[in-house]
Amino acid sequence: MIRLHDKLFEPFIAASEIEEAVGRMVEEVKADFKDETPIFICVLNGAFMFASDFLKRYDQPCEVSFVKLSSYRGFSSTGIVETLLDPPEDIEGKSVIILEDIIDTGNTVKELVAMFSEFKVKQFKIASMFYKPDVYSGEYNIDYVGIKIPNRFIVGYGLDYDELGRNLPEVYQIKEKDMINLVLFGKPGAGKGTQANFLKEKYNLKHISTGDVFRYNIKNGTELGTLAKSYIDKGELVPDEVTIKMLNAEVENSTEAEGFIFDGFPRTKAQAKALDDLMESKGMKIHATIALEADDEVLIERLLERGKVSGRSDDQDKEKIKKRFAEYNEKTAPVLSYYEEQGKLHRVNGVGEIEDITKRLTGVIDSIHQNQSV
Ligand code: 5GP
Repeated sequence: MIRLHDKLFEPFIAASEIEEAVGRMVEEVKADFKDETPIFICVLNGAFMFASDFLKRYDQPCEVSFVKLSSYRGFSSTGIVETLLDPPEDIEGKSVIILEDIIDTGNTVKELVAMFSEFKVKQFKIASMFYKPDVYSGEYNIDYVGIKIPNRFIVGYGLDYDELGRNLPEVYQIKEKDMINLVLFGKPGAGKGTQANFLKEKYNLKHISTGDVFRYNIKNGTELGTLAKSYIDKGELVPDEVTIKMLNAEVENSTEAEGFIFDGFPRTKAQAKALDDLMESKGMKIHATIALEADDEVLIERLLERGKVSGRSDDQDKEKIKKRFAEYNEKTAPVLSYYEEQGKLHRVNGVGEIEDITKRLTGVIDSIHQNQSV
């Protein structure tokens, strides 16, 4: 295990495995270019080590040059690719082979394709040491791929985390903290808020209630809050991307938390997938989904009682309550089945004394903790 800046990383791909993959790629390219003198273009900075290893083994005539592009800041692609060093001008009529370190969203590839389409090159190929097929959304088919990896943030073998780690001869991935990340579901009145308060104290979790996050961002006029409000004002749904960005900010600002309770999100399968992606990009995951369950009749009684005290009009009207329940059933069922398929869904009986329900919940969480340390 190694530490770079504030993060821990664990070994992921051994140097020998990388060497083997590079050897294979060299053979593939050699076979395709045996009668030619291609020009290899190394994409700086990250591809320097791959390019060096690749070219040392490439024992046929070739030229070598460099371009420099940049799109990453910290952990995620900014989506904007800057050109810091242009391609050489004398490449017309030549066969160009790009040597890339890693292909993630495909923004850089798109930029490279556009950049080289301005020259009349004979052939254009891309060879990438690492490739994240789950994240790649480009149209260009990568010609030579070294090692396919899942959506993880990796360092080493030329790749950095804020400039550290490029010199490592093997690849590391972010170490998953021993966290507990939960998604809490429950109909209105199921006691989600009450139970989340207990759980966050007991396990040092951060309770991320999407409703609160929205209200906070809008009230404080943050960039994302203002953006969200522009949709709400038009009577439109806030796009998932915006919500995910807000949740991302909450997660990044909670470095002390030992896990998260997501509440009010996800509400659709697409959102559940987006949340998984967010977690995975941070070396984290959702461990369990807890559905606090109670019969509608019990919940209606509870809400009517609550309505008498709070004065909330939507808690005083039985028909309105039933409508909210129907909406919950309709919207939540596919999300629950998404988690059920992953074996992460825990249905917890939400009827009884508050402490008894807490005990049932902590039972679920403790069993996850135990499984983690095995
Ligand atoms: P894309 O434009 O395909 O989204 O991203 C490509 C660039 O992002 C790469 O050249 C690399 O600099 C950076 N990148 C993508 N994924 C990772 C990763 O897992 N670790 C590191 N250190 N950089 C990455």
